Order: sequence, then structure tokens, then C-alpha cells
Amino acid sequence: MIDSAPLHRARAEAEADIRELTAAMESLRTTRESSSDDDEHDPEGPTLSSEWSRIRGLLTAAENRLADAEAAWARVADGTYGTCLRCGSAIPPGRLEVRPTAAYCVACASLR
Ligand SMILES: [Zn+2]
Repeated sequence: MIDSAPLHRARAEAEADIRELTAAMESLRTTRESSSDDDEHDPEGPTLSSEWSRIRGLLTAAENRLADAEAAWARVADGTYGTCLRCGSAIPPGRLEVRPTAAYCVACASLR
């Protein structure tokens, strides 16, 4: 029997992160726009854009985690959850505990 609680958690966490990071990008955009009226060199410019790419990177990672969680749910639905997508062997429960969205066994994951 599959313990779906970690999967629920993984998806909920990814969704919460996406909401938070989207809001952070939105407020960063507002900050950027309000300071763009200024023709003078903006000393905060580079800081803002590095902050932007940092958040953008985190958002992409969160979106990937959500996609992994959705894919894991699809595998639960079709009965292939916990089975390595590459070699078809069972993914150890300990690995699924640490990474509930894992689609590959340890050996195959290291080959990717
Ligand atoms: Zn494998």
C-alpha cells in the first residue's frame, strides 16, 4: 500500500513555494517599475536584477518539483509508482521516504 502523505506534502509545498515566489517576483517588478522613472544611474539596479534571477531560479525549481509531484501522482494512478522508470525494479522505500517523487532507483538516477 502506498503512503501518499509525503506526496501530498511534496505537492502542497511546491504549490506554496510557487505562490510565494510569484508574489515576490510581482513585488520586485513593482519596485523595478517605480524606480525606472529615474533617468539617473540606479545603484540598486544590479542588485534588483540579481535578486530577480535568484527568485526566477527558485521558481523554476519549485515548478519542477510540482511537475515531479504531478508525475508521481500519475504513476500512483496507473500503478507504476515506486517502480523505476528506466529499469523497472522497485525503488527502495527508504529512497521514496527521502524523495517521494523519485522516478528512478538510485543506480539509474546516477546514470542520468
Ligand atoms: Zn532503475
